[in-house]
Amino acid sequence: SETEADEPAANSGVTYEDIGGLDEELELVREMIELPLSEPELFRRLGVEPPSGVLLYGPPGTGKTLIARAVANEVDAHFETISGPEIMSKYKGESEERLREVFETAEANAPTIVFFDEIDSIAGTRDDEGDAENRIVGQLLTLMDGLDARGEVIVIGATNRVDTIDPALRRGGRFDREIQIGVPDEEGRREILEVHTRGMPLADNVDVDGIARRTHGFVGADLDAVASEAAMAAIRDRPTDADDRRDWNRNPTVRKTHFDAALASI
Ligand code: ATP
Repeated sequence: SETEADEPAANSGVTYEDIGGLDEELELVREMIELPLSEPELFRRLGVEPPSGVLLYGPPGTGKTLIARAVANEVDAHFETISGPEIMSKYKGESEERLREVFETAEANAPTIVFFDEIDSIAGTRDDEGDAENRIVGQLLTLMDGLDARGEVIVIGATNRVDTIDPALRRGGRFDREIQIGVPDEEGRREILEVHTRGMPLADNVDVDGIARRTHGFVGADLDAVASEAAMAAIRDRPTDADDRRDWNRNPTVRKTHFDAALASI
């Protein structure tokens, strides 16, 4: 069977410290996902069903995958990913089998987070979609309803378009909780920039607050690209003289002009 997407969570190394902004969202994530995974017996004692599915919805590049990886890593849970488009194409004809396998592995390795990226590609409203999607949604519902390790296997579905998700998937006991992951505001952008420049030797004239102010509409993925592009601009800008370059290499700096160049190109 195909297992190249399966990775032990511990290897991802992503922590909550790697997520900028999203404080309130992370609170919800911890309550809805971390708590049932780490203390399922608490829910049982209180006589409530822990969630088996949570939807993260919002524009691309805002940190949905990052959150799923971070929470899995933080609670030392096994991590499985399913890509909606991939299961529809690559596993065409074997999609249901593939889903069953993922859930089997998930239960065997519980606690597990199953991250279902672009879930809308399988879970469009059933009555106006083709037979294939029908069957896959049906299979997913069956698998989620049948989870023995309830609370210890949580499916995080990610989508840009929550309104196109099959209502059956959003009913109680399935993806009955939703967390919106929105475009960051200025403060969020500043925190994201701080994450991505944490390990960077910045010149004193780099004004992270100013960059945050100037990047209205940028999501985390864009800000990540700004930081990488600035570092690349700094490398391109190295002294040409061999001795000077050696000194620079030992003690590199990313300056304001490099961020300006990055912002102009992204
Ligand atoms: P998609 O819908 O395209 O899968 P996504 O919401 O899952 O998007 P991620 O894959 O989590 O987005 O983000 C892509 C990259 O952008 C991350 O690896 C990270 O470098 C950066 N990023 C996004 N959001 C944040 C954030 N809130 N804090 C820090 N980095 C972020």
